[in-house]
This record gives sequence, structure tokens and C-alpha cells, in this order.
Amino acid sequence: MVYSAHSSIRIPFALWGRAIFHLRRRSAGKRESGAFLLGPKNGNSTRVTAFICYDDLDPAAYESGTIAFHARGYAALWRHCEQRQLRVLADVHTHPGGSAQQSWTDQKNPMLPTVGHTALIVPHFAHTPWWSLKNVGIYEYLGNFQWRARSCGCMRRVRLSLW
Ligand SMILES: [Zn+2]
Repeated sequence: MVYSAHSSIRIPFALWGRAIFHLRRRSAGKRESGAFLLGPKNGNSTRVTAFICYDDLDPAAYESGTIAFHARGYAALWRHCEQRQLRVLADVHTHPGGSAQQSWTDQKNPMLPTVGHTALIVPHFAHTPWWSLKNVGIYEYLGNFQWRARSCGCMRRVRLSLW
């Protein structure tokens, strides 16, 4: 699960577009939704090749209006990854309104409490451009519930790519 903190995660435009579409539909303008971004298990590739939405793993994930991902969701996630030889590269979830800042809950509940894990936040319940990460919050987990915002310039943690 460990990958270099210096390598940026690549997300193909088409896949990001599909993810945004799914998040928008599942948020339905009224609740948070999310997904894990997945890449090949073997090798050092940090290119996202698949995603899976939280509610496909844990049908009760959105019931409270904010995301509550349960143990059976993680069990299903590890099964999904094992079967397809994938690993988690990042997670993404939606927020209401225009802010892509982490909430206190987000900071205290990393979806994957691994140092170097990346979390993305898409504002406006994913009613956002699918071709850009401009309004997307990007955070790197430093451990001990500390995060670093990683959105700007040459230190880009995540970027969109053609393929
Ligand atoms: Zn949040």
C-alpha cells in the first residue's frame, strides 16, 4: 500500500468524468457521496484505472446524509481489490456548497489511515467541471489526524491525464 510521496496520482480525464457523473447522481443535490480511486496492485504505477462508489460497497453509507462507511464496506473493498488486483490510490467525496475544505470529521476520519494517503473533496455535490481539478480540494494524510493541502503548482499531488 506504500507508494512514493513524491509521485503524483494520475487520473485519466474520461475516468474522472465518469466518477464525477456517478458522484453527482448519487449525491442527488442533497447528500454527500464518495468513491475510492483504484490503481494496479503490482508495480509502482500511480495511474487510476478504476473507481468504486462507497454505496456499492456499503449500501448504508449515505443514510445519515453525511458519509458513514462501515466495517462491511471495508471488507467489500478489500475483496473487490483482491479480485481485480487493485489497490486504493485515493478517495474522493462531495460536499454541499462551494467549499472543498476538509471538515473536522474528514480530518478525524481518514478513509485509509495510511501516511501518504490522498483525499479529494469535490464541492457543489459534484456539480463541477469534470475536466478540471481547479475547485477540488486535495489533501495528503500525514498521520496522527494531520493533513497537508496539496492543490497548487508544481507540488501537485493529483493531476488529470489524457489516458
Ligand atoms: Zn467531507
